[in-house]
Amino acid sequence: MVDQTVLGQFAFRNRFATECARCSVLVLADGGVVRDDPVHGQIVLCLTCVNIDHDRHAEIRYVTPGAAQWITVLVLGFTRRCWHCAAEVVCVSGLYPHRPGLAAHRLMTTHDEPGRGMALAARMLDRIGRRDITATIESVFSQTLQADTMAVLCPHCRSMQGNFFVIEETTQRYLTAGLEGLDVLGHAPSPTREWQQIVHHPDLSWMLFGTA
Ligand SMILES: [Zn+2]
Ligand SMILES: [Zn+2]
Repeated sequence: MVDQTVLGQFAFRNRFATECARCSVLVLADGGVVRDDPVHGQIVLCLTCVNIDHDRHAEIRYVTPGAAQWITVLVLGFTRRCWHCAAEVVCVSGLYPHRPGLAAHRLMTTHDEPGRGMALAARMLDRIGRRDITATIESVFSQTLQADTMAVLCPHCRSMQGNFFVIEETTQRYLTAGLEGLDVLGHAPSPTREWQQIVHHPDLSWMLFGTA
Protein backbone atom coordinates (compact mmCIF):
# COMPACT_ATOMS: atom_id res chain seq x y z
CA MET A 1 0.00 0.00 0.00
CA VAL A 2 0.98 3.63 -0.39
CA ASP A 3 2.14 4.93 2.94
CA GLN A 4 1.05 8.22 4.36
CA THR A 5 4.46 9.91 4.01
CA VAL A 6 4.30 9.41 0.25
CA LEU A 7 0.76 10.69 -0.03
CA GLY A 8 1.43 13.66 2.23
CA GLN A 9 -0.72 14.54 5.15
CA PHE A 10 -2.90 16.90 3.16
CA ALA A 11 -3.12 15.01 -0.12
CA PHE A 12 -6.38 15.75 -1.89
CA ARG A 13 -8.31 12.83 -3.30
CA ASN A 14 -10.05 13.13 -6.66
CA ARG A 15 -13.80 13.64 -6.44
CA PHE A 16 -14.60 12.15 -9.84
CA ALA A 17 -13.39 9.13 -11.75
CA THR A 18 -10.85 10.04 -14.44
CA GLU A 19 -7.81 8.66 -16.24
CA CYS A 20 -4.48 8.87 -14.38
CA ALA A 21 -2.59 11.77 -15.99
CA ARG A 22 0.56 9.61 -16.42
CA CYS A 23 -0.43 6.00 -17.05
CA SER A 24 -4.03 6.65 -18.25
CA VAL A 25 -5.47 3.87 -16.08
CA LEU A 26 -8.96 4.78 -14.86
CA VAL A 27 -8.81 6.12 -11.31
CA LEU A 28 -12.07 5.66 -9.41
CA ALA A 29 -13.64 8.55 -7.51
CA ASP A 30 -11.61 9.12 -4.33
CA GLY A 31 -9.09 6.49 -5.50
CA GLY A 32 -6.18 8.74 -6.51
CA VAL A 33 -4.43 11.96 -5.59
CA VAL A 34 -4.80 15.48 -7.04
CA ARG A 35 -1.51 17.21 -7.85
CA ASP A 36 -0.60 20.62 -9.24
CA ASP A 37 1.20 20.29 -12.53
CA PRO A 38 3.07 23.28 -14.02
CA VAL A 39 1.74 22.54 -17.52
CA HIS A 40 -1.69 21.00 -17.01
CA GLY A 41 -2.86 22.60 -13.78
CA GLN A 42 -4.60 20.10 -11.54
CA ILE A 43 -3.98 16.50 -12.51
CA VAL A 44 -5.06 13.21 -10.96
CA LEU A 45 -2.54 10.43 -10.42
CA CYS A 46 -3.20 6.80 -9.57
CA LEU A 47 -1.49 5.49 -6.43
CA THR A 48 1.06 3.53 -8.48
CA CYS A 49 2.18 6.69 -10.30
CA VAL A 50 2.27 8.58 -6.98
CA ASN A 51 4.64 5.88 -5.67
CA ILE A 52 6.81 6.07 -8.80
CA ASP A 53 6.94 9.88 -8.56
CA HIS A 54 8.35 9.40 -5.09
CA ASP A 55 10.69 6.54 -5.98
CA ARG A 56 11.44 5.71 -9.62
CA HIS A 57 12.18 2.11 -8.69
CA ALA A 58 9.02 1.55 -6.68
CA GLU A 59 7.44 -1.82 -7.34
CA ILE A 60 4.41 -1.87 -9.65
CA ARG A 61 1.86 -4.06 -7.96
CA TYR A 62 -0.64 -6.36 -9.60
CA VAL A 63 -3.48 -4.19 -8.45
CA THR A 64 -3.43 -0.41 -8.06
CA PRO A 65 -5.81 0.36 -5.16
CA GLY A 66 -8.63 2.67 -6.23
CA ALA A 67 -8.08 2.07 -9.95
CA ALA A 68 -9.46 -0.12 -12.74
CA GLN A 69 -7.70 -3.45 -13.29
CA TRP A 70 -7.70 -3.26 -17.09
CA ILE A 71 -7.03 -0.58 -19.65
CA THR A 72 -7.79 -0.51 -23.37
CA VAL A 73 -4.71 0.08 -25.51
CA LEU A 74 -4.65 1.07 -29.18
CA VAL A 75 -2.17 -0.81 -31.32
CA LEU A 76 -1.21 1.65 -34.07
CA GLY A 77 0.51 1.13 -37.38
CA PHE A 78 0.14 1.40 -41.13
CA THR A 79 0.23 -0.61 -44.34
CA ARG A 80 3.06 -0.18 -46.80
CA ARG A 81 4.44 -2.02 -49.80
CA CYS A 82 7.16 -4.62 -49.30
CA TRP A 83 10.44 -3.21 -50.63
CA HIS A 84 11.15 -6.51 -52.37
CA CYS A 85 7.89 -7.82 -53.87
CA ALA A 86 5.49 -4.87 -53.40
CA ALA A 87 2.92 -6.96 -51.50
CA GLU A 88 1.06 -5.08 -48.76
CA VAL A 89 2.64 -5.43 -45.32
CA VAL A 90 1.08 -4.24 -42.06
CA CYS A 91 3.74 -2.55 -39.92
CA VAL A 92 3.28 -1.91 -36.20
CA SER A 93 4.29 1.56 -34.99
CA GLY A 94 3.39 1.67 -31.35
CA LEU A 95 0.98 1.56 -28.44
CA TYR A 96 -1.16 4.34 -27.00
CA PRO A 97 -4.04 4.39 -24.51
CA HIS A 98 -7.54 4.46 -25.98
CA ARG A 99 -8.47 7.11 -23.42
CA PRO A 100 -5.24 8.97 -22.63
CA GLY A 101 -4.61 10.79 -19.36
CA LEU A 102 -3.95 14.54 -19.43
CA ALA A 103 -0.16 14.22 -19.50
CA ALA A 104 0.08 11.04 -21.62
CA HIS A 105 2.29 12.39 -24.40
CA ARG A 106 4.27 9.33 -25.29
CA LEU A 107 3.53 7.00 -28.14
CA MET A 108 5.28 3.84 -26.95
CA THR A 109 7.08 2.73 -30.09
CA THR A 110 7.98 -0.75 -31.27
CA HIS A 111 11.49 -0.16 -32.58
CA ASP A 112 13.81 -0.34 -29.59
CA GLU A 113 16.84 -2.45 -30.56
CA PRO A 114 16.14 -5.63 -28.58
CA GLY A 115 12.58 -5.62 -29.93
CA ARG A 116 10.83 -5.38 -26.56
CA GLY A 117 8.17 -2.95 -27.77
CA MET A 118 7.43 -5.12 -30.80
CA ALA A 119 7.10 -8.22 -28.61
CA LEU A 120 4.62 -6.37 -26.37
CA ALA A 121 2.60 -5.16 -29.37
CA ALA A 122 2.56 -8.71 -30.74
CA ARG A 123 1.29 -10.01 -27.40
CA MET A 124 -1.56 -7.48 -27.47
CA LEU A 125 -2.46 -8.24 -31.08
CA ASP A 126 -2.43 -11.93 -30.25
CA ARG A 127 -4.84 -11.26 -27.39
CA ILE A 128 -7.42 -9.85 -29.81
CA GLY A 129 -6.94 -12.52 -32.44
CA ARG A 130 -4.98 -10.53 -35.03
CA ARG A 131 -3.05 -13.63 -36.10
CA ASP A 132 -2.87 -12.14 -39.59
CA ILE A 133 -0.43 -9.55 -38.19
CA THR A 134 1.34 -11.52 -35.46
CA ALA A 135 2.23 -14.27 -37.95
CA THR A 136 4.46 -11.71 -39.72
CA ILE A 137 6.35 -10.64 -36.56
CA GLU A 138 9.35 -12.79 -35.79
CA SER A 139 12.52 -12.90 -33.79
CA VAL A 140 15.37 -12.48 -36.27
CA PHE A 141 19.12 -12.03 -36.16
CA SER A 142 20.03 -8.53 -37.25
CA GLN A 143 23.34 -8.21 -39.10
CA THR A 144 23.37 -4.49 -38.34
CA LEU A 145 22.92 -4.95 -34.59
CA GLN A 146 24.76 -8.31 -34.43
CA ALA A 147 22.01 -9.42 -32.06
CA ASP A 148 18.50 -10.85 -32.00
CA THR A 149 15.64 -8.45 -32.48
CA MET A 150 11.99 -8.53 -33.54
CA ALA A 151 11.00 -7.59 -37.05
CA VAL A 152 8.12 -7.66 -39.50
CA LEU A 153 8.51 -10.06 -42.40
CA CYS A 154 6.60 -9.72 -45.66
CA PRO A 155 3.74 -12.29 -45.60
CA HIS A 156 4.32 -12.95 -49.30
CA CYS A 157 8.11 -13.19 -49.82
CA ARG A 158 9.31 -13.23 -46.17
CA SER A 159 11.69 -10.30 -46.71
CA MET A 160 12.48 -8.42 -43.52
CA GLN A 161 10.92 -4.95 -43.43
CA GLY A 162 13.69 -2.79 -41.99
CA ASN A 163 12.87 -1.18 -38.65
CA PHE A 164 14.52 1.98 -39.94
CA PHE A 165 11.85 2.42 -42.63
CA VAL A 166 9.08 1.73 -40.14
CA ILE A 167 10.44 4.41 -37.78
CA GLU A 168 10.81 6.84 -40.66
CA GLU A 169 7.28 6.34 -41.94
CA THR A 170 5.81 6.43 -38.40
CA THR A 171 7.54 9.80 -37.83
CA GLN A 172 6.44 11.17 -41.21
CA ARG A 173 2.83 10.18 -40.66
CA TYR A 174 2.85 11.58 -37.16
CA LEU A 175 4.36 14.92 -38.23
CA THR A 176 1.82 15.21 -41.05
CA ALA A 177 -1.39 14.17 -39.30
CA GLY A 178 -0.67 13.42 -35.65
CA LEU A 179 -1.96 10.16 -34.21
CA GLU A 180 -4.73 10.27 -36.84
CA GLY A 181 -2.02 9.57 -39.39
CA LEU A 182 -1.68 6.04 -38.03
CA ASP A 183 -4.17 3.21 -38.49
CA VAL A 184 -5.73 1.53 -35.47
CA LEU A 185 -4.73 -2.13 -35.84
CA GLY A 186 -6.71 -3.10 -32.76
CA HIS A 187 -8.11 -2.21 -29.35
CA ALA A 188 -6.36 -4.54 -26.92
CA PRO A 189 -7.23 -5.05 -23.26
CA SER A 190 -4.18 -4.86 -21.04
CA PRO A 191 -3.99 -5.61 -17.30
CA THR A 192 -3.26 -2.35 -15.46
CA ARG A 193 0.11 -3.60 -14.25
CA GLU A 194 1.27 -4.69 -17.70
CA TRP A 195 0.49 -1.26 -19.13
CA GLN A 196 2.03 0.62 -16.19
CA GLN A 197 5.21 -1.43 -16.63
CA ILE A 198 5.28 -0.41 -20.29
CA VAL A 199 4.69 3.30 -19.56
CA HIS A 200 7.31 3.40 -16.82
CA HIS A 201 9.84 1.06 -18.47
CA PRO A 202 13.27 2.73 -18.56
CA ASP A 203 14.43 0.98 -21.77
CA LEU A 204 11.42 1.10 -24.06
CA SER A 205 11.51 3.77 -26.74
CA TRP A 206 8.81 6.33 -27.31
CA MET A 207 7.96 9.33 -29.39
CA LEU A 208 6.94 12.54 -27.70
CA PHE A 209 4.07 14.56 -29.05
CA GLY A 210 1.65 17.31 -28.11
CA THR A 211 2.55 19.66 -25.27
CA ALA A 212 5.20 17.94 -23.19
ZN1 LIG B 1 -1.00 6.11 -13.10
ZN1 LIG C 1 7.59 -9.15 -50.09
